[in-house]
Amino acid sequence: MARVFCVANQKGGVGKTTTCVNLAAALHAQGQRVLLIDLDPQGNATMGSGIDKRSLTRTVYHLLVGIADLAACRVSSPEGGYDVLPANRELAGAEVELVELERRENRLRDALVAIENDYEFVLIDCPPSLSMLTLNGLCASHGVIIPMQCEYYALEGLSDLVNTIKKVHANLNRDLKIIGLLRVMFDTRITLQQQVSAQLESHFGDKVFRAVVPRNVRLAEAPSHGLPGVVFDPASKGARAYVTFAKEMIKRVAAL
Ligand code: ADP
Ligand code: MG
Repeated sequence: MARVFCVANQKGGVGKTTTCVNLAAALHAQGQRVLLIDLDPQGNATMGSGIDKRSLTRTVYHLLVGIADLAACRVSSPEGGYDVLPANRELAGAEVELVELERRENRLRDALVAIENDYEFVLIDCPPSLSMLTLNGLCASHGVIIPMQCEYYALEGLSDLVNTIKKVHANLNRDLKIIGLLRVMFDTRITLQQQVSAQLESHFGDKVFRAVVPRNVRLAEAPSHGLPGVVFDPASKGARAYVTFAKEMIKRVAAL
């Protein structure tokens, strides 16, 4: 049965999409069947997987509002080797439309039942907010992966997210847990980052993934080629870190 993880952090630009796309590609390279769900109207995970968001007639929006089933929306990442439920600007409308619908927080979870035997991993790229879309991601998931930069304000934002996760766990989804915190865009030369990283480890212990993703320009360049970084430049430090992270995820999930 597929294990579903959402990559969430209500801050923008913290590496959610980069983590989703590269984890999906790295898991595929490890022989796992992966579905990546783009829940952000910006459609960055879609584009970064080599799928043109402007050319799509069916997206995750149509799935959420009940116009199409999953099979009709699913596409595959040509180079990434994983499947994608793509998104584009249309998804922004779902935020309002969902409010009127039955089981509005559970639309995604309900839709995923049909494909739970098709994949080992389902990864959900959340938008930078704690909105109805993110709520759908959290309700559909077994766990949350939280990418974060080791900066001064990072911990402050974290408490809002952790509280939201606790509420969803208590009221909507008893399966939900935090799988781990992933340090991204890490620069070992910066003392403050080392300090925040040490703080994270002492506060969250085993919840902090051992893999650390460095700041690496090849990861930032890859999306403009429509490729995950791990495919674009497999030898780069960033790509190697995501491969290490994928292996760690496989182990962690086996122990769940
Ligand atoms: P989010 O989805 O949280 O908004 P992104 O994954 O889009 O964040 O990352 C924000 C920006 O930082 C993007 O331009 C991305 O290419 C870049 N980026 C992400 N991770 C790294 C990294 N490890 N090294 C360098 N640039 C990165
Ligand atoms: Mg993003």
